[in-house]
Amino acid sequence: MDLFDLHCDTAFECAGRLGGVDLSEGAWHISLPRGEYLHQWRQIFAIFMPDEYRGEDAVKHYEHVRDYLRRQEGILPERFQIVRSKRQLLATEKQCGCVISVEGGSALAGKIERVQSLYNDGVRLITLTWNGSNELADGIRVEQGKGLTQFGREVVREMNRLHMAVDVSHLSDAGFYDVAELSDVPFVASHSNARSLCGDKRNLTDEMITVIHRRGGIIGLNFCVGFLRDDGNAAVTDILRHAEHMLSLGGENSLCLGSDFDGTDIPSGMTGVESMGELYESFLRLNYREELVNKIFSGNAENYFTKYIFEE
Ligand SMILES: [Zn+2]
Repeated sequence: MDLFDLHCDTAFECAGRLGGVDLSEGAWHISLPRGEYLHQWRQIFAIFMPDEYRGEDAVKHYEHVRDYLRRQEGILPERFQIVRSKRQLLATEKQCGCVISVEGGSALAGKIERVQSLYNDGVRLITLTWNGSNELADGIRVEQGKGLTQFGREVVREMNRLHMAVDVSHLSDAGFYDVAELSDVPFVASHSNARSLCGDKRNLTDEMITVIHRRGGIIGLNFCVGFLRDDGNAAVTDILRHAEHMLSLGGENSLCLGSDFDGTDIPSGMTGVESMGELYESFLRLNYREELVNKIFSGNAENYFTKYIFEE
């Protein structure tokens, strides 16, 4: 089976808290050997930006995790490759194709020219905010969070120009609608679920889900137990419940997975990337067409990234 997962925090964990352990060893949920059973494995590795970093500190932190990923490519060239082109995205086989994202626009340090330098580093998706506020907008945990700032608007336009994916996960509701209005390129919610099934504001309302579907964007289902169920007591079936709901809103071509591996607590019965095979089987057991399951696990994300982001 193939997997194209829109979000994990493995690079941040390995480069930071775990003191630089290689991806062959990995963190709690992802290591390269644990994903070796996958035929084609594309994984977005987020460079997570803690909200307290600003300016030079933010840049330094970003570069630290970026350099970690580059080092991994150097050490493990057979098993791990940073994807920089459509050709590489499509050719990844029996190795992990890493698409770099940045989770938190503070990595730009308020400088518009840094969008281009992140692009040059291989970054192809930016989650505009984390939970707090930054130079671009307010995150979802900010009381009565505001939408895009002037700088945030400039960043979205520049990302459109460069063909980088704008990610609204973690963004305030006002910010979501600003992006919907402003972005010419279909946008992404890399790791968010349905708010009508689990009320945490990190999840998307049905209206937001429908906007993303209609615009040709993609949504990655998050395995975080607190975003699957209000009581946090989530099982694998809750992932299927959210999938079912998104599909009922017309998500056949936009539903993807955004595991949040190594960034959160996942349902009991799952241990990490090695559990994706079982999840895939769970969909088939519920009589989902194999073609649709393949779209959710990989096809929809591949389609989005080849159509809008990687040009050649
Ligand atoms: Zn996140």
